[in-house]
Amino acid sequence: MSRHTTFRTGGPATLFLRPENTAEATESVRLLKEAGAEFMLLGNGSNLLVSDKGYDGVVICLDKLDDISLISDTTICAQAGALNSRIASFARDNSLTGFEFAAGIPGTIGGAMIMNAGAYGGEMKLITKSVQVITPSGEVSELTGEECDFGYRTSALKREGYTVLSATLQLEKGLEKDITERMTELALKRKEKQPLEYPSAGSTFKRPEGYFAGKLIEDAGLRGFSVGDAQVSEKHCGFVVNRGSATSAQVYELIQEVQKRVFENSGVKLEPEVIMVGDFS
Ligand SMILES: Cc1cc2nc3c(=O)[nH]c(=O)nc-3n(C[C@H](O)[C@H](O)[C@H](O)COP(=O)(O)OP(=O)(O)OC[C@H]3O[C@@H](n4cnc5c(N)ncnc54)[C@H](O)[C@@H]3O)c2cc1C
Repeated sequence: MSRHTTFRTGGPATLFLRPENTAEATESVRLLKEAGAEFMLLGNGSNLLVSDKGYDGVVICLDKLDDISLISDTTICAQAGALNSRIASFARDNSLTGFEFAAGIPGTIGGAMIMNAGAYGGEMKLITKSVQVITPSGEVSELTGEECDFGYRTSALKREGYTVLSATLQLEKGLEKDITERMTELALKRKEKQPLEYPSAGSTFKRPEGYFAGKLIEDAGLRGFSVGDAQVSEKHCGFVVNRGSATSAQVYELIQEVQKRVFENSGVKLEPEVIMVGDFS
């Protein structure tokens, strides 16, 4: 899984499936559910920490489901495996505004729906018209944005185990020039603030109410703190980065140590935003 996660760590999955189309994806999920097999969906692996022991189950990677199409003047439909960066360019090319915030979130729209990904004042909740899903009981169905019950880095899709097949996004008419400007401005902000030169999974911890995780970590004296090649970024304390040859065990140990020390220093309990997959015991 180190080849399929932005942390560049993690052992093998038992089986790795790459369905060619929606019918294959749906059938794979249906058969695995019927068999009671352990499985998970994979987007771009940009919010995952997979155990070095790997994942004892089937990974279904949706990277081949990546069509993006214009549904009406102001709505776009994107298949689950389409990358946010591509959707943002597609929206810009069609003079549609509202998706600029997500251009630099290095995941798929499927992962973004599950996580209610957000940045710079935007979040999926604000632009999701509907989502085509496979329900926990195995039927293909359509949920409205409201039914997805989006919250901070969570959704009913995540809590209840839906598979996202595609999402329809409600955008607005805008000027291509303004959209390009906004995307450039946000890309620069990211480059300036975030350690994009190292593998990571973005913000390691959720933002605790009333605080910023990065500031709490910095105040606990943990800037640059490391376990092996896993390190609290020198550039942005909210990111744990892989300096080269970190293992998932090292990242995990670092996360635990940061939680412990931040709690000792401030009384605030940091909760990981990164999703742990597999056995870390
Ligand atoms: C440098 C960097 C910057 C980042 N900046 C941001 C940011 O600004 N804002 C933000 O919100 N996040 C950010 N992230 C985190 C991450 O990119 C988002 O959480 C993203 O939405 C994850 O998408 P993904 O496709 O990579 O999902 P994955 O990491 O592959 O999966 C995440 C979860 O979604 C599930 N999943 C994925 N696809 C599907 C599907 N089709 N159906 C059902 N379940 C699915 C997976 O099983 C897993 O539980 C950043 C990460 C990095 C590395």
